Amino acid sequence: MHPDLVALLALQDEDTAVAVLEARRRELDARETALDQERVTAEAAIARARSAAEAEDKKRRELGMKVQEHRALHDRHLAALDVVRKDREATAAMAQIEITRRVLAQEESEMQSLATRIVDLNQTAELEQLSLADLAERQGTQRAEIAAARGEVDAELGTARAQRNQTASRVGRPLLQKYERIRGRENSNALYALRGSACGRCNTAIPLQRRNVMAAGRSVEVCEGCGVLLYASV
Ligand SMILES: [Zn+2]
Repeated sequence: MHPDLVALLALQDEDTAVAVLEARRRELDARETALDQERVTAEAAIARARSAAEAEDKKRRELGMKVQEHRALHDRHLAALDVVRKDREATAAMAQIEITRRVLAQEESEMQSLATRIVDLNQTAELEQLSLADLAERQGTQRAEIAAARGEVDAELGTARAQRNQTASRVGRPLLQKYERIRGRENSNALYALRGSACGRCNTAIPLQRRNVMAAGRSVEVCEGCGVLLYASV
């Protein structure tokens, strides 16, 4: 077997090992991203409840000022009623008082429901805050596990990549470039053994003449069907 082919077969195995480690690394990253997302969602729920409570409180303050104005108006109408002498004026003053009372009653009931909503929203925010604390505690353990696993994977990756680069240096440059191009494109193996007289990947028949060149692993050829590198196993 050609030394290039021997090195290339070893390189392919080592690249597969690197790819497995890289996939594990991505999976750890994804787990951490999911934890971050979970936390962001929990924090957003607190912020939402708090800002809703603030908005309702602002409404309540504004309404409170209106209520004060309307109470003062009501008092003025009452005072006016005391001093009127004529029936017609008294009827008009009574009507004013009635309208103001109705408005006040409505505003006060609205104040009451605002107060209830504010209490509810603050309670929601506090509950969310408590569950965020739980979440942070639970995530602390998970994050530590992820960090430890990542440390291990990174160390293994460092070794595996160094090994892979060392093997790559033993493959002739033109063949290595072809291999890396295919590997980058296909995101899978780039080198396949002939299966019978056909490509081991796509099953395209390889002419006898080319198979003869490849015989006993003397040369590596490109499959015309799928573009991978082909060799004849000894
Ligand atoms: Zn093929």
